Amino acid sequence: MSRQLMGRLRNRAALMDKTRSVAWDLDAPMASFTFDDFPADALEVGGRILKEEANACGTYYVSGCFMGKTIDGIKFYEEGHLKDAAAQGHEIGCHAFQHEKLGQQGPRFARQTCEDNAAFVRDILGSGVKMTSFAYPYGDTSLTVKSALSKKFEYCRGVRQELNTGKVDRGQISVISLEIRHAAYVDIKRTVADAVANKSWIVFLTHDIRENPSPYGSTPAMLENAVKAVTEAGIQILPLRDAAIRGFKKPQLAVSSPGLWVPGSATAYS
Ligand SMILES: [Zn+2]
Repeated sequence: MSRQLMGRLRNRAALMDKTRSVAWDLDAPMASFTFDDFPADALEVGGRILKEEANACGTYYVSGCFMGKTIDGIKFYEEGHLKDAAAQGHEIGCHAFQHEKLGQQGPRFARQTCEDNAAFVRDILGSGVKMTSFAYPYGDTSLTVKSALSKKFEYCRGVRQELNTGKVDRGQISVISLEIRHAAYVDIKRTVADAVANKSWIVFLTHDIRENPSPYGSTPAMLENAVKAVTEAGIQILPLRDAAIRGFKKPQLAVSSPGLWVPGSATAYS
């Protein structure tokens, strides 16, 4: 079997595992903006747009391996960006130290690279910043990696494109892509209208924010349009972690059963 097919089957199996689905329990829609890998302009431009248009914060999924690098013309964050993002109230999330396909690498590698990333972030931000949410690099996972990382992080974000409605898989939260490569078929206005109608959680995903973005990034206008569409619909914007804390139905502890997820039970990486 080819590696590609193996990968597809592995990821399909993980997506079908709904054992970590939790009822989403809000009477109103919610939105989060997430920036993976953390190109510098995701904060310099993207963070500014969020603040100016909505006085809101986003989530920056940090991979230690990218700090200070320029790859394919994309300038990634420096230490100062990481400090600024945290100081400005944005969520710092984990994206593994090594930006590799974790489903392919397996759970032992996945745990280790997240521990390495935690140590890396702790060295810069101190032990006060806890990374409680995670995004799979390339969206790649497997049953065993999803299980391992869902024990370490309260919330894991995938790349399946859909609104989060009803029961939400906290081990593989879905996204709406703001990447320019998907712009032709992602209708933001309709997505926002659907979210309002169904009281859904919109988790936007993008990378760099600049006039000529990579295929995985957005122009400033694309981000501004999405933020405006959301705010004009009266939808609150919160970092992924904060939205999740607000939205996931809390288990009734008095009738808790073995295996029932309790918020705060995962090992938060600092
Ligand atoms: Zn990434």
